[in-house]
Amino acid sequence: MARQHSPVCRFCRREGMKLFLKGSRCDTPKCAFERRESPPGMSSFRRGKSTDYGAHLREKQKVKHHYGILERQFRKLFAMAERGKGNTGEALMSLLERRLDNVVYRLGFGQSLSQARAIVNHGHVTVNGRRVDVPSFLTRPGDVIRVKNRPKSLDLVKACMAEVHRDVPDFLHRVEGDIPEGHVLRLPEAADASIPVQTQMIVELCSK
Ligand code: SF4
Repeated sequence: MARQHSPVCRFCRREGMKLFLKGSRCDTPKCAFERRESPPGMSSFRRGKSTDYGAHLREKQKVKHHYGILERQFRKLFAMAERGKGNTGEALMSLLERRLDNVVYRLGFGQSLSQARAIVNHGHVTVNGRRVDVPSFLTRPGDVIRVKNRPKSLDLVKACMAEVHRDVPDFLHRVEGDIPEGHVLRLPEAADASIPVQTQMIVELCSK
């Protein structure tokens, strides 16, 4: 699977906001954005005025970096959102939030979204009792995401849960216990995203 290899803290400095890509480090004074908010690169101070197109592009890039997806996957999800009924921007954010790697992350089973993706990839969780190792799998209301009942998976996830102190969003419910699990209560909305996104700007950019 294709993935980003750039140092992720640069993305936060580029987008001018914390994207929470490094787990518990993001909430400490070690956060690179807390220490230096300027855009990365030697020549950042020489850059000219940002254009309307640039602002729209930055909004899209912010979403791609936060969810850790590349252009092709993003376009695929945008096309799905466009085909659906209702507001395309809302539908896009709902699709992004429904991804299994994001749900595992929002449940606190992984410290960062990239760790949550690795947890899914390595088969540490099941969905409705079946092993699903595809991070882009779209969850639905009623789905139960459970940590696999084996020491390796349980130790890994419980260690993450002990480190992470994030609130679980309203569309999910986490059950802690010997075998942690999460329930999808409803379809997520744009307001459930963990970063603020101006979805209209993305729709305007991608619909051209
Ligand atoms: Fe962004 Fe986290 Fe790095 Fe801070 S520590 S710059 S929030 S990825």
